[in-house]
Amino acid sequence: MRKIAIYGKGGIGKSTTTQNTVAGLAEMGKKVMVVGCDPKADSTRLLLHGLAQKTVLDTLREEGEDVDLDDILKEGYGGTMCTESGGPEPGVGCAGRGIITSINLLEQLGAYEEEKHLDYVFYDVLGDVVCGGFAMPIRDGKAEEIYIVCSGEMMAMYAANNICKGIVKYADTGGVRLGGIICNSRKVDQEKEMIEELCRQLGTQMIHFMPRENQVQRAEINRKTVIDYSPEHPQADEYRALARKIDANDMFVIPKPIEINTLEKLLIDFCISN
Ligand code: ADP
Ligand code: MG
Repeated sequence: MRKIAIYGKGGIGKSTTTQNTVAGLAEMGKKVMVVGCDPKADSTRLLLHGLAQKTVLDTLREEGEDVDLDDILKEGYGGTMCTESGGPEPGVGCAGRGIITSINLLEQLGAYEEEKHLDYVFYDVLGDVVCGGFAMPIRDGKAEEIYIVCSGEMMAMYAANNICKGIVKYADTGGVRLGGIICNSRKVDQEKEMIEELCRQLGTQMIHFMPRENQVQRAEINRKTVIDYSPEHPQADEYRALARKIDANDMFVIPKPIEINTLEKLLIDFCISN
């Protein structure tokens, strides 16, 4: 079983990219579990065709310790298994702790066991918060492989670099490696070239350039992934391509984070040469 975490700045497209790519893997016949690690609890909406399910933390709050796996793990598109860790009440408590509680509970209830025949588990983690709780999937070796969703916007690149620092911190103890950066386009000038250069400097690869495409929104308002909503659309093929690349990936590195000055220079160079 490959254990993958998707990190990236808030709003960059982690949940969208994760679910669409997971739909691609499901289409390939892979058995996938998706664990939403964002208090927003929207990491599985497209696979489940709605925010139907109660989060792990809500279930624990309402039903106490006596929880069954079926209460927190629901089947979605293509046989995917979906769960949301949820969060504390707004303004109270630490959201990162919810992730720890949820993963521990899933383990206790046997969600990861051999007989489930999982090929993949994906953790969709909000990643511009560099707090211990959010690092938990990589800290304790729950996730072994990281993909960062990024765009050519400065703050997205800044967050990607910070996430790389987090990976370096836990690479020796937890064994975590970076599998690549997914460029989720914001239609910035020379975005592909700039992210390729960022990847080169970080010592990783741009595993895919995902076009910005309104079909993603059309599918989203219908509570579906693009593959589910419009399997013939070219954007569906983009997500299939990313799924195949992740499935075939063999480039796993400990990244080399760059200095903020170097990052700024990269942005300026691409801005000026344009
Ligand atoms: P995150 O999980 O990183 O906070 P989301 O996955 O919720 O971000 O994405 C934020 C918004 O961006 C969503 O409403 C989604 O429809 C949109 N989006 C993401 N990727 C694309 C894309 N490739 N093309 C068009 N819209 C996109
Ligand atoms: Mg999200």
